[in-house]
Amino acid sequence: MFSPSRFVLSIVLFLVTVQSLLAQGTRSTETYRRLKSHVDQIPLIDTHDHLWPFDKLPALRQTKQGRGVNLAGLWQNSYLSGYNKITPWNDNMEFQAWWKDAQHDFDNVRALSFYQYQLPAYRDLYGVDFEKLTPDQAEELNGKIFDHYKDQRWLYHVVTERANIELMFNDTYWSRLEFVQSYPWEVQVFNVTSLVDGYHPSEYENRPANNPFKVDSPYDFAKKHGMTMDSLDDYLKVIDRLFLEAKDKGAICLKTTLAYQRTIQFDNVSKDRAEAAFGKPRSALTPEQVKDFQDYIIWRVCEFSAKYELPFQIHTGQARIQGSNPMLLINLLEGNPKTKFILFHGGFPWVGETAVIMQKHWWHCWIDSVWLPVLSYSTAKRAFIEWLDSFPSNRIMWGADCNHAEGIYGATEYHRQCVSEALAEKVLDGDISEETAQKIARQIFRDNALELFPQLKDRLWKHKGIKLEPKAN
Ligand SMILES: [Zn+2]
Repeated sequence: MFSPSRFVLSIVLFLVTVQSLLAQGTRSTETYRRLKSHVDQIPLIDTHDHLWPFDKLPALRQTKQGRGVNLAGLWQNSYLSGYNKITPWNDNMEFQAWWKDAQHDFDNVRALSFYQYQLPAYRDLYGVDFEKLTPDQAEELNGKIFDHYKDQRWLYHVVTERANIELMFNDTYWSRLEFVQSYPWEVQVFNVTSLVDGYHPSEYENRPANNPFKVDSPYDFAKKHGMTMDSLDDYLKVIDRLFLEAKDKGAICLKTTLAYQRTIQFDNVSKDRAEAAFGKPRSALTPEQVKDFQDYIIWRVCEFSAKYELPFQIHTGQARIQGSNPMLLINLLEGNPKTKFILFHGGFPWVGETAVIMQKHWWHCWIDSVWLPVLSYSTAKRAFIEWLDSFPSNRIMWGADCNHAEGIYGATEYHRQCVSEALAEKVLDGDISEETAQKIARQIFRDNALELFPQLKDRLWKHKGIKLEPKAN
């Protein structure tokens, strides 16, 4: 029998339940906890990092105890340092002299994703709440970090066991054309950014003495291989040879960060116009002629990308923002239907634009959410929710995009949290089952990369139950 009072009571009870769920947030639900612990178990394929050789880590500092990684080095090599002051570390200074000022560097950034993504590393790897450190605890933390980095095994432990990364694509932008592997889990990436300036050798010279990109020159590469560089045709042959070399040395995809230097709108320029720029220094060219040459080369790179089956990772979104909206890539995507494109950073903040590109170019485009939660956690969560109802779930990958163990761990954990939260909301809303959510999480963190790069399956090692150790020196 229908009872109006019982009906009203159940409505009230339902609303109270919903209200308390909202008040506590998704992360306090059992659904989230179950999903997150599922995600924690997934051995990860991280499609983008910048992990330098151990003796060249950018976080190394000169201290009274010798050269090593310390707390200042970690924060100065976090993304926060690009958007907020981090007190400089002077060689051999006392830790407390640094911390006296440095502790206030965080006063206005407590809510920032650029800050928050690092906190899981201090919480989980060091057992401290970075938000509540006393000066003594900060010094103790600094000492532990320094001690850990005396042994490369720390990096191995954090990356492969704590972060649970099985394979990591490494963009070695400090030696782009050398293809040297430093770590057993590392997958080579061919960074093609500097190739667009091959119109003249001076583009690769006269850089500061400490310039780490000296090895970029395709002219040096040509010389080493006895190839001439007297015409645009010669240059195209050198690029072809570079692709062969990259493929031979194990590179699996291409990467460009041109969005930091210029617009990512690339016209399909005629060869005549590109030839007009070849052999001339930048000072003898107009900006339009430089752009013509660069555009022409990028179109050829897309063709080589298809020919050598090396998918093309393109930085989109946050960079030189007047020209980094992923929509600017449309003519390049349309003109190169056989090239596989991976749109980095989800195009932040243009995550909806990236979704419509995926709808129109579904057969040859992927999204990589690398760096996105670190740029803005809430945008990333919204992006995952929107993307998953806009295009198929086998098209999203992820990466940590950091240069030290703590950054990699923090960015990874933050990413796991973000994806789990977005998926839990879909489950709680009744849009997808928990089983589907688990499958999607596994796709994003692992299976999608293995589907796009099936050759990686031969390099998987976790199922063998082995432990990766550094080679003894
Ligand atoms: Zn990067």
